[in-house]
Order: sequence, then C-alpha cells, then structure tokens
Amino acid sequence: MNRATFDILRCPYCGWTLDLVTSSFHRTSGDEIQDGILGCQCCVFPVVDGIPVMHLQPAATAAHELIEQGRPDHARRAMFGLDDEGEAERFDELAASGTATYRSIVEALGEHIEGGYFLYRFADPTYVVGHAVVRAVAGTVLRGGGRAIDICGGSGHLTRALMDLSAPAPVLADLYFAKIWLARRFTAPGCEAICCDGNSPMPFARGAFRFAMCSDAFMYIWTKRQFVLDMLRLIDHGDQSDARSAALISHTHNQCTWTPSHGQPLTPGGYRNLFETMEARLFGESGLFADVVAGGPLDLSRVDDERTLEADPSLTMIASRQPGVFAPHPLEAPPSVALGEFRLNPLYVEIGSPGADTLTFRLRFPSDDYEQEYGACRQYLPEEVTIGRRALAAIAEGRVPDELADLVRRRVIVDLPKKYY
Ligand SMILES: [Zn+2]
Repeated sequence: MNRATFDILRCPYCGWTLDLVTSSFHRTSGDEIQDGILGCQCCVFPVVDGIPVMHLQPAATAAHELIEQGRPDHARRAMFGLDDEGEAERFDELAASGTATYRSIVEALGEHIEGGYFLYRFADPTYVVGHAVVRAVAGTVLRGGGRAIDICGGSGHLTRALMDLSAPAPVLADLYFAKIWLARRFTAPGCEAICCDGNSPMPFARGAFRFAMCSDAFMYIWTKRQFVLDMLRLIDHGDQSDARSAALISHTHNQCTWTPSHGQPLTPGGYRNLFETMEARLFGESGLFADVVAGGPLDLSRVDDERTLEADPSLTMIASRQPGVFAPHPLEAPPSVALGEFRLNPLYVEIGSPGADTLTFRLRFPSDDYEQEYGACRQYLPEEVTIGRRALAAIAEGRVPDELADLVRRRVIVDLPKKYY
C-alpha cells in the first residue's frame, strides 16, 4: 500500500485514521508499505504483501500475529488459506517465479476461487454490459479528476476499466485476499487493493471518492441497507461539488425472477428503498445489453417502467446528481492497440484450415452450465470465424489489422491482461 492511502483509509469500527505502528515489525520501500501493522484507536490491522487487511476474521488475526513475529511469508500463507506445508511451499515458489500466470496461480490455489470461468470473463455478457456502463458513468463523473473504488470487485476485472479514468489510481476492495492479490499482480496492476468485509462499514473517509461501484456481488451482501448508505457516504462531498459523483450497482439479481447463483436479491422497489440519501435510477440489464449489442449508444436517459424492471433477471442502479450521467452515451471504439495482449477468445476452438493461409474456429462452451448462464454471448459471438494466419500473427504482436477490428468489437478477439493464461 502507498502511504498516501492513509488520507482516505479509516478504521471500519471506530472511524479513526490509521498509521503504521513503527515499533512493530514492518518492511517498507519508499512510500510503499510491504508488510506491517496499522493502528487506530480501537484495534490493529496487518498489511500483508502490500495489502491492508481491514477486518478481524480468523485469517486476519492469524496474519496479524505472524507479522508481529516477523514472519510475513507465513502471514501471506494464512491469508491465502494455505494450511498444508508442502502446498504452501510450492505456492511461494510459483509466486516468486517470473513465469507465473493468473491461471497458474488460480490453479495452485484451487480452481474453486473462480470456478474456471475467469478464462472467459472478459467476453461474457455480464462483463460486456458492466464494462460499457462503468466506462459511461465513471467516464462522465471522473472527467474533472477524482478517484474511483470498485467494492467487492473480486480479482479486478472491472477495476481494470477504471485504471485510465481514476486519479489517483482506483481502489479495489474485496474480502477475498487471493482475488485482490491476483488483481494487483495481473488484472489491474497499479490499483490500490484493500481487503475488507462488504457486510461491515467500509474502511474509508467520507467523500474519498467521486465514483463508487459494485458489480455482480450486491445480491450476496446481507447488510444491504448499511452497504448502500455507506457507499453514498464515500461519494458525499457535502457541498455543491457533490454533483460530480456517482454510485453504481450493476448486475444485481432480482427477487421477482429466478437466476442461477441467486444470492439474496430484493425486488426493484426493495432496492430503490435502500437509497435514502440520494435517489437511484433503476435499469433492466437486458435493455442496456441490447444497446451494447446494437453498437450503442448506451441509453442511460431511458426510464424503465416497473413491469420491465420486474421482468428482468438482473438490474443496474445508478445514483448521481450529475445530469450528464443520465444521457445516451456513445460506445467507445474497440482498442486497436492492446492494453495487455490481444488473444483469440478461448471459447473458440480450431476446426480446420480451409486454405493454406486461413484457419476456421467454432464457438464451443466449456459446459452446459456456462451456456445456460452466459449463452446470451451468442448475440455478439459468431458461430464460426475464419481468420488469416497473417492476421493472427499480427494479433499476437499486439496490434489489430483493420480487417479484424470488428472481431475486437464483437469480443472474438479480447484484450487480456499480460500473463493471464
Ligand atoms: Zn478502530
């Protein structure tokens, strides 16, 4: 963590500022704190491998004791839940090697942390619509500067979309240490990662951010009322400059419909009721998705009626006093230079070579479950594509030949973080 983060970090329980306890074991490098103990008025929190752990769950308590004993490597193992000595040693070796990828780390930790779906994440329909909404809303309110936070952001797939919009760098907050550690290393390098519990008060100062978001996670939060009021506190600047901020909750499930991995969703009216201090506008995600598939604009000026909202399995909520948010937003042009590296979407398998210089690929889902949950990707992913070998070689070098620009827009070719798999 960077020392400048102390400006916005607060104890989730007493609300006081935090500081490094210099009498305890710590390792720093310039303004970065690698390992150490942070203290407020009521308790202490460990910093493990550059990540402040702002909760008191058993792993955090164990990590705190191990840091105090001067054993930061064991503190990291505790946060990763690596109990088996042999497994932990193999993991430490992998993490220290230059050849580790996102995938190899996930597999070393056990596939369960992402269910294997991370491979397809950057092209799945939930991500595609979430990404467009984040770019539109964050792009509007952060235009004059300001910081963003991705709450319950997991391994930072959407935090990545905030990297060039947020100044200082965006904050990624999540309870799962392994996920935010992966984000800092692979998915959103340069973000500030904070380990904290979405069911507790958020460990940040009032007005610390201009944009706060939570995507694909809110239905799993039990303390929804506290969460929303706290989220609005984070973007509350208390004066007329208040206008330039927004809170976004995207892809939360709907109690009126059934979806796989349901969580504890509310009805549209139940969600609206949570926004006591700033009104939220609700959108059915299907309408937003249709806008994106059609090539834009993403129309946030629409007003979905109650029947539309009740029928949609997923909802998006936006609270903002800035009128520019609730407008039609043109979609950004697909990238022509990779932020990470361009790769063929792994949902495509090679099925033949119709000519010496071309290859044909077919869309194939990894499982029936995947197809059931994400089959809407058929609306932008073609059943079959034929691509020239020369164009494939150009993609591998990080540039997109003009004739393939449409395949980037359709997510047949995806811009993945470096060393993703
Ligand atoms: Zn405290």
